[in-house]
Amino acid sequence: MECCEARDHLAELARNRLEPDLADAVRAHAAGCVGCADALRVEAALHALIRERAPRYAAPPALRARVQAALRKSEVPISSGWRAWLSLHPWMGTGLAGALVALIAVWVGTTWLAADPVARLVSRALDEHVEYAREAMHRPAPNPVDLLATLRSQAGFALGPLFPGDAEVQLISTKTAELRSKPAVALVYRNGPERYATLLLMPGADATIPAEDRLPIESFKPYHRVASGKQVLYWKQNDLACLMVSDLDGPATAALFLKIRKAA
Ligand SMILES: [Zn+2]
Repeated sequence: MECCEARDHLAELARNRLEPDLADAVRAHAAGCVGCADALRVEAALHALIRERAPRYAAPPALRARVQAALRKSEVPISSGWRAWLSLHPWMGTGLAGALVALIAVWVGTTWLAADPVARLVSRALDEHVEYAREAMHRPAPNPVDLLATLRSQAGFALGPLFPGDAEVQLISTKTAELRSKPAVALVYRNGPERYATLLLMPGADATIPAEDRLPIESFKPYHRVASGKQVLYWKQNDLACLMVSDLDGPATAALFLKIRKAA
């Protein structure tokens, strides 16, 4: 057996999932191959770590594929158990151990997000916001009436009245998007230099706004959270679920929320 073939089976071997003949062949190769023996130890340690940290979830195939890719690319020698090696070399953040820890952190984070749909939505909205704000940087404000007319024709669902901006806040761009495999639209507002807010709207008759963590703003009580240093508000208006991610501070976010909410 060649190394490349052995490596393809190490993860399954570490989990005792190989047919006996194939398991024997992989073990026989690893017995005479230092690289594959080390890789097998990493797989076993990873398997143990995953079982220990997140016993309720099975490792998704995508995570395993990425770990295997990291193993193949890595030239970091691993002479003893991975866990011991990691504790002895905590500064090797860019090495194999760092890559594995990062992958596990992403994966555990993702499973946590899957268990909390609002968190998943917020996480996705944060990503979109950062991307939109970067695109909108230095862009002159187009005519908001044209922007909104184009958006309405592309949205695929009724948007109702929308805040077109005012002397303080400019509507910079609009997008059609998809969130949780549903159509959505995004409106990007600029409120001062390098201060952006992204408003995501999606059909929301069936959306549930969490009952806790509500922030009273005048007579309204949107759901509120701070995530990655951004203000996040989530509420329903008409039949839309509305999620705003903002670079602004709390009071400025509340002021923008009122403009958006009262326009509807
Ligand atoms: Zn080998």
